[in-house]
Amino acid sequence: MNYYVNTQPQDNGDHEVHKSTCMHLPDVSHRRYLGNFATDQEALREARKYYLRADGCFYCCPKIHLH
Ligand SMILES: [Zn+2]
Repeated sequence: MNYYVNTQPQDNGDHEVHKSTCMHLPDVSHRRYLGNFATDQEALREARKYYLRADGCFYCCPKIHLH
């Protein structure tokens, strides 16, 4: 599965991680490609290399949605 992270933080400061199939995937100008991962946890680890505050999308990555 391909994952992306939103380059723009939410109101609470978190950058959301999304699967490429998510209907809430941010606009192409507001997302960074993270890579192809087998699990949400691996994608989150990658996202945290770019953003200290990264969090899974409530809809597509509930397992890593913490805030
Ligand atoms: Zn999503």
